[in-house]
Order: sequence, then structure tokens, then C-alpha cells
Amino acid sequence: MAEKYVYFFGDGKAEGKGGMKNLLGGKGANLAEMTAIGLPVPPGFTITTEVCTEFYKNNRRYPALLQEQVEENMARVEKLMGKTFGDPKKPLLVSVRSGARASMPGMMDTVLNLGLNDETVQGVIELSGDPRFSYDSYRRFVQMYSNVVMGMDGDVLEHLLEQMKEDRGVKLDTQLSADDLKKLVGLFKNKVKEELGKEFPDDPNEQLWGAIGAVFGSWMNPRANTYRKLNNIPSEWGTAVNVQSMVFGNMGDDCATGVAFTRNPSTGEHLFFGEFLVNAQGEDVVAGTRTPQPINKAGGDGSLPSMEEVMPQCYDQLMQVQVTLEKHYRDMQDIEFTIEKGKLYMLQTRSGKRTARAAIKIAVDMVKEGLISEKEGVLRVGPEQLDQILHPTLDPKAPKEVIAKGLPASPGAASGEVVFSADEAEEAAKLGLKVILVRIETSPEDIHGMHAAQGILTARGGMTSHAAVVARGMGKCCVAGCGDIKVDYRTQQFTARGGSVISKGDIITLDGSTGEVMKGQVPTVQPELTGDFGTLMKWVDKYRRLGVRTNADTPHDSKVARQFGAEGIGLCRTEHMFFEGERIMAVREMILAEDIEGRKRALSKILPMQKGDFLGIFREMKGLPVTIRLLDPPLHEFLPHTEAEIEELAKVMNVSVATLKNKVEFLHEFNPMLGHRGCRLGITFPEIYDMQVQAIMEAACELVKDEGYEIIPEIMIPLVSEVKELAILRGHAIRVADEVISRYGIKVKYLIGTMIELPRAALTADAIAREAEFFSFGTNDLTQTTYGLSRDDAGKFLPFYVEREILPNDPFVAIDQEGVGQLVKMGCEKGRQTRPDIKLGICGEHGGEPSSVIFCHNIGLDYVSCSPFRVPIARLAAAHATLLEELGR
Ligand code: PEP
Ligand code: MG
Repeated sequence: MAEKYVYFFGDGKAEGKGGMKNLLGGKGANLAEMTAIGLPVPPGFTITTEVCTEFYKNNRRYPALLQEQVEENMARVEKLMGKTFGDPKKPLLVSVRSGARASMPGMMDTVLNLGLNDETVQGVIELSGDPRFSYDSYRRFVQMYSNVVMGMDGDVLEHLLEQMKEDRGVKLDTQLSADDLKKLVGLFKNKVKEELGKEFPDDPNEQLWGAIGAVFGSWMNPRANTYRKLNNIPSEWGTAVNVQSMVFGNMGDDCATGVAFTRNPSTGEHLFFGEFLVNAQGEDVVAGTRTPQPINKAGGDGSLPSMEEVMPQCYDQLMQVQVTLEKHYRDMQDIEFTIEKGKLYMLQTRSGKRTARAAIKIAVDMVKEGLISEKEGVLRVGPEQLDQILHPTLDPKAPKEVIAKGLPASPGAASGEVVFSADEAEEAAKLGLKVILVRIETSPEDIHGMHAAQGILTARGGMTSHAAVVARGMGKCCVAGCGDIKVDYRTQQFTARGGSVISKGDIITLDGSTGEVMKGQVPTVQPELTGDFGTLMKWVDKYRRLGVRTNADTPHDSKVARQFGAEGIGLCRTEHMFFEGERIMAVREMILAEDIEGRKRALSKILPMQKGDFLGIFREMKGLPVTIRLLDPPLHEFLPHTEAEIEELAKVMNVSVATLKNKVEFLHEFNPMLGHRGCRLGITFPEIYDMQVQAIMEAACELVKDEGYEIIPEIMIPLVSEVKELAILRGHAIRVADEVISRYGIKVKYLIGTMIELPRAALTADAIAREAEFFSFGTNDLTQTTYGLSRDDAGKFLPFYVEREILPNDPFVAIDQEGVGQLVKMGCEKGRQTRPDIKLGICGEHGGEPSSVIFCHNIGLDYVSCSPFRVPIARLAAAHATLLEELGR
């Protein structure tokens, strides 16, 4: 059978299905599905994503059979509509839209009203009885087509439109007459010829193929490329093209167009929510140029009449449709509709993008409503998305100077310096500055700046404007449609209604949950972790197998992590404790001591401080497992750097500045990451580790003896590459630990284990397991040493590698499953061969990154350990791992 490139939908029948997203794109698959379940969808057809892939493979040529199939399907649409494409009497007009597998809002091209020329417009006048509407559609078509397909600068024709309004002494497009618009069409076409040196095409077929080519072409435009990169969408997927019979929301006051969500995408509230415009065409709502009216009374603030009031019958019908859609898809839907002369048409439905807060509420509510199972509920919330709600929100008690209020488009709080362009936002973020991007409105061209900014503020546009939709998708705080401010790009300032003038570089704070804009920086408070979040996390814990611990070095971090659900500490880095306050002086004394006696003297000053830290941490963790790593970094990191520091230390140590300088020089290393660090320090300066083991065990024994705790400390030796290193250090640790235990006269168990963070350790893990009761994979160092990439220097070129797709991700963020991951897998297998009950965990940064957590589950680790704020993310990812495994995915 010949290859099928085109799928028809119309009149209750569709060749495609909702499950065919890969082939038909999200929009095409859902148009087919909506048609098949009997919803009012204008007929049309979808050209598959395969055609797009072929198009790029074959030097922008289409498959041979495509033209024939498009013609056949156009004939089916014509038959259903009783109109003919290009017919001067009863012309069929179509829209041509993109639609990829994953939704990419506003990133690609669209052409509406296609099929119009000087002859067919007469037919439209006859059918509609409305010359003004007909010529308005025609002039919109010429504007859109010349811009999108022919590459003409959109401002040129916009300028002619403005001029015409000026000539006629009117302010609004709607005040121009049919004759004015007819004249404009002529002026537009002449201008196109003048600027581009070619005629505007009058042949509808030429228009159609031009538009199809432009939509496929837009798959590779810069903004689509950026969006794909940010959202990990492979370029091979391609987009589909949907050609659909036009319906008009701009034929008079009984016409409208709108977008809506079956539930509130910002809060998750179970309330039909949306916006519409009377007498407007498709893109007017999302473009943010006119402020739309609410769909229903409950969703508005009463300042504008809602659709529920103005068009009650259509509203009732739309209400029924949205209920049908949500039941059918069992998920919150984002829908687009048009009302033509009082008749409702559905143009699109898709799973709606939502904030983390909304995702959680919707998942929990839908489980309670019996629409989805608990497991589905858990899978509905993206682990990475949780990051949005784990961070602080504005302190409600803090004083704040509110200077303006807009729409609460995407929740969260953000403070930063004001910038007025996306490029500036990106530049500033590169320098490490926090910025708020302020625009009159955003367009898809601004996406890189929105990504770089902490928050986004726009003067125009509604809850479904570009800025709002994109910000919600990114989890960025956004205040949209803030009519209280006047933005002046020229002077790089905005003025708030009350008179405050904010210039570039001034700090403001946004509250995306209330829409408030504040002067200066407003303090924040910790997020609320109960309610729906708590319910969801209970289900998460029910379904996950993998344990989740935290990397924490202080009692405070330990406490935060426990609130986030950590089940112990997987990595307590003791070197951080060495830097604090006056400790650094004692540490420097220890490092620079001339002999062992001097070193011991200095260490005895550090011992009580270390012990105090461990007491605090053990207390916070209330008997949960705590893995403490002995000192790891190269000694020179602790050394004095400035002349003043050296002088001060020389005095304390009672040595000359010159002697000290010599010693500092001596300790200098060319490659500290591969130098005198980790267990190599323990081997050469055993008294350091001895002191640490003593501090750990004294703290544990004290709490067990005096405060009734049950503690099993896990002592971890870093950077082992050879089992003998571990054998020696384990011997020392046991000696010190047992000595402390017998001194306290009690029984305390402890474990001694190691980090696997060098390839040789993974390769010889069977031997190493003889000496280790647990392994913790240090995938930061393991990535560094497997790739031969310096952790400290890779930032200079790794982004380039990722951009060029030489590497799929930064391997320091998401574990490299094919390389580093294989070493981890091998390490586990070999470790278990020697010691079947060995405890296995991971404590590199990867322990909090969802794809890496899923990998850790799949290779059978016992737990992951990550920074406190990522603990809930890891818990959710661990639950996803089990559930995806059950689903065979
Ligand atoms: C690691 O190497 O993965 C690790 C956790 O240790 P650090 O980051 O302290 O080197
Ligand atoms: Mg390490």
C-alpha cells in the first residue's frame, strides 16, 4: 500500500486517533480525537511529521505522493463544507498551522484565511453579506502571509495600516470601512512587490503550498530551536501541518474566539477558567494585544462582562464540551474555540501546562474524584517541577512597598534588577546577576531572556498571553497584564501609576501569586509542605523502593532535609566544618605544623568543635543513618592566601613569615583534584582521620549513653583507588572507635565504608568490598575521572558540547548512563558478589536529578542522597521509577 502522508478529520469521523501524537503531532491527534467523540470541529486534514523529517532529509523536497493526497483530502473538506477552494462564488478558506509531538506554544508559524484573492473575496462577501469583514480578513491574510511565508518585515505593512487610520482620523482598526480595507489590500500588495521584488500570490494553490512549506520551515527557526533545547525536544521529531476549514470569530458581535483551561492552571482550582474576545480572530487572545474578557463570572473581577453573561447559550455548550473533554482525556485540558454566528467550534485541545502547585492540586483532586488512580496521580507531577514550590515565597509579615498590580500569571516570588530586553537579561544572567525582565508584552523571540530572568513582568496581555503561558511552563514567577505600569524602552524606565519611576538596574520584587510588584527586595519564608503536597508525597513514599537521604553538613541543613522527608544523611562533608570562624586558624596550624606533635596540638583544638557539629547533626537526625565522610579536599585549600593572613598565622604559630611562605609554596599542587587529597591525606597524616573518628564516636556514644539515642554512625573513607588504602585506614578507624566505645563503657555499633569515585575503585569493587560495609558512589569525581574532565574547568567548554549535541546533557548534572553509569552498575555487582548485604548509595549531585534517580533505581542501588531542597524531587523521581517499571517503560 502506498505510504499515507495525510489524515482526514471531519463530520464525526477521523482517520487519526489521539494516540497517534508521534505521527500527527499533538494538535493533529487531538483534532482527530475530538472529531471522533462527536465534538464540533471544523473539518480538515493533517500532514504527518514524517513528511517534515523527509523534507529535511531530502533537501527540502516533499515525498512524491504528497500533492495527490493533499488534493484528495482538500476535496473531502470541500464536499463537507459545500464550498470549493479557490471558487469565486463559494470559496473555501483554510488555516494552516503547525503542531509538533510536544506542544511548543507560539514557536512556529501559522497562516489564517488562506485562499483569498480579489475574486474569492467577492464570494466571501456574498456568503457573509459583510464586505467589511471580508476585506478585513483579506488584509489580515496578506499581512500574515507576506510576513510568515514571504519573509516580509511585519512592521512595514503595520505602518501602512497605521497611516490609513491616521488619514481617516480614527483610532481603531474596527473603525476603518470596507472601502478603506479594500484599498489597504491593494497598498499592501504593491508594497510587497516593491520590497520583495515579487508579486503576492493570488493562486490559492500556490498560497497553500507556500504556507505548508513555511510551517515545515519554521521547525528550524531560531526560536523553535531554543525552545526545543530548553525542553529536550529532539529536532528529528519534526512538526505536522494541519490544514483546516476556517471558522470566523470576527464576523460580528455574535462571534467570538477564546482559550480556556478546564481547571485553573496557576492554582489548580477546579473551576473552568479562561478568556475570550468578542468579534476577534484566533490569535488575538494569545497575542496579548487586547485585554480579554473572562469566560465566567467566577473567573473575573467584575470589571468586564463574562461570556457566561454575554453569550449564555454558547457558554453552556462550551461548559458541556469541557466536561466531556476532561472526562475523555482524564486530564486538565487547554482548549481553543471560536464562535461563528452563535455556533461553537472547537479548534484545539491539549493537556494544559500548569504550575507545580496546580499540578499537585489537580493530581490529588482527580484521584479523589475517582478520575485517575493514585499511581497515575503520582505520575502526573514532574519531579523537576517540584523545584518551583520548594523554594521560599514572600514573607507575608515583611513590610513591602507595592507600586503596581497585574495578573498573577505564574506563582512564586522573585527579586532582581530590572532589565528591558531579553538579550540584556541573558547577558546579566551570564555575569551571575539576578534580573527581572520587564516588557510591554513578550513574544516568542524573548524566550532566552525569560529563561535567564528570575521573573517576568509585562504591561499588557492576559492570563493566557505568551508571557503567562511560557512562564508557567518554565516555572518562573510572572506578573502579566500590569496596566498600572508604563514602559518606556527608550529611556529604559517604567513608571507606575502612583508615580514611582523604576530605571534599569533598580531592584524590584514580583509576587506571581498575587500579581503585586514591589520596590526593592522583600524577604521570603519557607514553603508550606502540608495539604495536597503532603497527600501526594504520602503516595510517593508508598510506591517508591529507593531510599532518599540528604547531603548535609550542618544541623540546620539536616533539619531542613528532614522536613523535606530525608531518611538519613548520605554524605556529611566534614571539610566544610573546617572553614568556619576561628577554626580555620587551628586548621592552618595543623596543616603547617613542623612535626606530628605540633599537628596533634592543633588537632586537639579542632576536636571539640567537630564533636559539637556531630552532636548537633545526630540530634537532628534522631537515630536515622548518618554517613560522615572523613576529610577529603587538598590541604592547600585551607592555606592562607593573602600577605595579611600569612602574617597573622606566623604570629600564632610563632614562626617566621618566610618559613610559612616556604611551607605554603611546598604544598602547592598543579592538579589538586588528582593530588594529595581524600584517603591519601589519611594515609600520610593519620592523626587527622583519627581525630575525626574520635569526634564522631564520642558524639555518638554521648548521645546513646546520656540521651537514649540509637545511633549507628557510618564512617566513610573517600577517594580510595586501591583496597590496601582502605584496609589500612579501616584498621586505624576501628582502633580509635573501639577505644572510645570502651571508654564510655557502652555498646555502640558503627559501620566503615568507602566512596567509589575513581574508575579503579569501581573496577576492583569486589576486592574493596572485603574492607567496606557500604559503598557510596561519588559520581561527581567519578564523572570527572571517567571523562578526564576537570570539575572546575569544564564550564568553559561543556556548554558548547551540549549546544552542539556532542553530549546530550552536562554529565555533571544528569548521570552519563552509558559510561559513568556502567561503572556504577559494575561497582554494585562486584560489591554484592563479595558482600551480598553491602549497602549501596550515591551521593554525587546526580542523586537529586530525576533521570539519574531513575537510573539508580534500575541498577538496584539502595538509596540516593542529595541536597536538602532536592529531597522531595528525588522521592518523586524514585516513585516514578517504580511506576514506570511497572508500566514497562
Ligand atoms: C563526589 O565526588 O561525587 C562527592 C560526593 O564528593 P565531592 O563532591 O565532595 O568530591
Ligand atoms: Mg568526591
